[in-house]
Amino acid sequence: MSLDCVFCKIISKQIPSQPLLETDDLIVIKDIAPQAPIHYLIIPKRHITNVAALQLSDRDLMGDLILVATKLSQMVPASAFRLITNNGAAAGQSVFHLHFHFLADKAN
Ligand code: AMP
Ligand code: ZN
Repeated sequence: MSLDCVFCKIISKQIPSQPLLETDDLIVIKDIAPQAPIHYLIIPKRHITNVAALQLSDRDLMGDLILVATKLSQMVPASAFRLITNNGAAAGQSVFHLHFHFLADKAN
């Protein structure tokens, strides 16, 4: 847990949210400023800065995060979607807690 991290605050319920999906290891929330008609964030509960900070021991967790995108695509449902993670401020990362953007233009 990082004290000044907005996603850690959401995960610890200091900031209320309505998770679309939650497991012991991850949470899925709607993005507060959607960039597409469907825009969810897939967030591990453990504070990891970004992809560059991942370790070999995070393999299972990373598999779970991607498989949640599969599940989301079935729930929405969306056969076409983008799964994006920004790594570093210069690449557009603004929240330094690893997350994947799940973006879809329309339910299809
Ligand atoms: P990135 O710029 O890739 O780090 O993405 C961070 C995302 O988090 C942005 O799309 C923001 O709109 C989103 N965001 C920031 N604060 C919140 C919040 N409190 N609840 C939901 N999404 C948020
Ligand atoms: Zn965090």
